[in-house]
Amino acid sequence: MSRYAHVEKAPPIEVFELNKACIADPAPKKANLCIGVYRTEEGQPWVLPCVKEAELSMAQNDALNHEYLPVLGLEPFSNAAVSLLLGDVETSPPLAEGRAFGVQTLSGTGALRVVAEFLARILKYTTFYVSLPTWENHRLVFFNAGFKTCMEYRYWDEQKRGLDFDGMIEDLKAAPPNSVIILHACAHNPTGCDPTKEQWKIIADIVQEKQLFPLFDSAYQGFATGDAENDAWAVRYFANERNIELICCQSFAKNFGLYNERVGNATFVVSDPKVMVEMKSQLTLIVRGMYSNPPNHGARIVCTILNDSALRENWKECIKSMSKRIIDMRLGLRERLERLKTPGDWSHITTQIGMFSYTGLNRDQVDYLISKHHVYLLKSGRINMCGLNPSNLDFVAGAFDDAVR
Ligand code: PMP
Repeated sequence: MSRYAHVEKAPPIEVFELNKACIADPAPKKANLCIGVYRTEEGQPWVLPCVKEAELSMAQNDALNHEYLPVLGLEPFSNAAVSLLLGDVETSPPLAEGRAFGVQTLSGTGALRVVAEFLARILKYTTFYVSLPTWENHRLVFFNAGFKTCMEYRYWDEQKRGLDFDGMIEDLKAAPPNSVIILHACAHNPTGCDPTKEQWKIIADIVQEKQLFPLFDSAYQGFATGDAENDAWAVRYFANERNIELICCQSFAKNFGLYNERVGNATFVVSDPKVMVEMKSQLTLIVRGMYSNPPNHGARIVCTILNDSALRENWKECIKSMSKRIIDMRLGLRERLERLKTPGDWSHITTQIGMFSYTGLNRDQVDYLISKHHVYLLKSGRINMCGLNPSNLDFVAGAFDDAVR
């Protein structure tokens, strides 16, 4: 009898299970719209040219080696990440006043995990709020880090297929002080639906009035509108204009196409720089006890690109072209559904932004799409727009049409 015999099977992770099932599906025509990764027009992964160039230059640089990085990571990388998020010293008071710092992490998930542990163990916060719906990993990460209570704030209005702003505000107003509010910085996953600037201002009012702690999750900076500055608007508004203390967890998986390199950063904005030494010392112990120190390769790539004007320009072109391709696919899908006179209103496909669309397809329609048409999407009806391309748009639109009728 094995000592592991009593271990119960944990529930599967939907997105990975579906991805596996799609890859294994022998059907000659199929579409993978489940996993959140970028694909080219040909349906292939894309290594950005600036990333290749940075890697080549790194390989030839004899000054680089494979020594350990410091526990909190490669400082030039986290400085570049903080600036990408907050702007420059001219426009960002926290930067100008030395009230912001970064910690390199294992991609966005690792940033959330380190930050959640810091908030739970060091600040003793117990309650976190997620949008309803949210990225499915938020709950697991926060509970694993020591949080006790998960609350939800309303976000998606099924009827209007858009933001339920009144519901959101009502729920945030009712949150106890020191609740950690997870806010998606841009391109909300899974709904593709963000607050407007005016709405963000109201959210900032409530955060201040009710003494809530804003934790921004920024996994798609640049990827949403094609412009990294635009996509940082909400975080910059809170940090630079409203002078609110916050943390932002940044992922460089999507915007640099560095999924498996696990490049991330946690940016901390504080009101008084005096607290930073103690904060960093506690973060050092959290990281030391979790994975000791982060990997070099991906962070060095991002740092090289952001600090080289030609490579940075190329990167800007890359995110523009990726976001443009997504917008084209939104237009293409909507146009086809409307041409087919598929029952329902499909305008939300083009008003939503970022990688995902929350289609509004229900559970039965999703099951039907997978089993009958081999079109794979999450049971919530979320699709990855990047899984669409000129060669499969007709096929997917036809399948949606059939599923809805
Ligand atoms: N937050 C959100 C909302 C996401 O969609 C993702 C990526 N799926 C992440 C965080 C983190 O991803 P990663 O750990 O790959 O950077």
